[in-house]
Amino acid sequence: MLCIMEGNIMAYTITSDCISCGACESACPVECIAPGDETYVIDPDACIDCGACAETCPVDAIQA
Ligand code: SF4
Ligand code: SF4
Repeated sequence: MLCIMEGNIMAYTITSDCISCGACESACPVECIAPGDETYVIDPDACIDCGACAETCPVDAIQA
């Protein structure tokens, strides 16, 4: 069971460090990562905070 902070919607976000390699997109179990205008973006409503994307990113651009 994942720990979810009550009263806060916690989701991973992708910073401007993203080089759009696409690795996180295929790593996400709920397929909530997609290419955006300048970086890949995470759908915060669908993200289950599993952290798989952050472990996959080669430039550490995904922050909790
Ligand atoms: S934390 Fe998990 S569910 Fe959320 S975007 Fe990353 S891989 Fe997908
Ligand atoms: S793995 Fe990292 S650098 Fe690659 S698309 Fe995802 S956020 Fe961007």
